[in-house]
Amino acid sequence: MKLLEDKILQEGNVLGEDILKVDGFINHQVDISLMEEIGRDMAEHFKDAGVTKVFTIESSGIAPSVFTAKELGVPLVILKKQNPKTLRTEVWQTEVVSYTKNTSYQLTLAKNYISDSDHILIIDDFLANGEAATGAIRLIRKAHATVAGLGVLIEKAFQPGHEKLESQGIHVYAQASIKAFENGKVVF
Ligand code: 5GP
Repeated sequence: MKLLEDKILQEGNVLGEDILKVDGFINHQVDISLMEEIGRDMAEHFKDAGVTKVFTIESSGIAPSVFTAKELGVPLVILKKQNPKTLRTEVWQTEVVSYTKNTSYQLTLAKNYISDSDHILIIDDFLANGEAATGAIRLIRKAHATVAGLGVLIEKAFQPGHEKLESQGIHVYAQASIKAFENGKVVF
């Protein structure tokens, strides 16, 4: 998606070997017009996939998935990274290793927001090793629902996530696919 690639080239910052900082338009400050375009593009890509719900992981996936779900006309469910005291209901949980924080968390979904007839599109900001997406897939499968696909804004194609997921039969759509970081610059 050219609009997103241009924004990454203009405002993204490469940190060290393998992290792209995008907090001026995705993660901290949010470019709402860009998110709206991203949502339209995601919805267009998955419009014939029979999606019944969009799932995302808090918090960076929320902004783009709001617009994706709106365009598709389906509910959005935000998977939690902890089990809030207010969630007084039965939950599905699975442990996920965080790529950026080097810790793990319990990805949590209330059982009443999924049913075995759901066909779920997962949206996230980044795809790196595929841990977050694989965790979301485990939760969906625990509930005997099915996965319509994974849509990410940015994939780092030099990391194993994309291949790992495609090898499990999951369709992955990346709006911007980064081939490499070369001398602190992004190469698509
Ligand atoms: P994975 O689970 O695929 O290994 O990593 C994906 C998750 O880690 C995403 O939800 C994202 O929040 C975070 N992440 C992975 N790589 C990057 C990166 O280069 N930049 C930022 N900002 N987040 C990343």
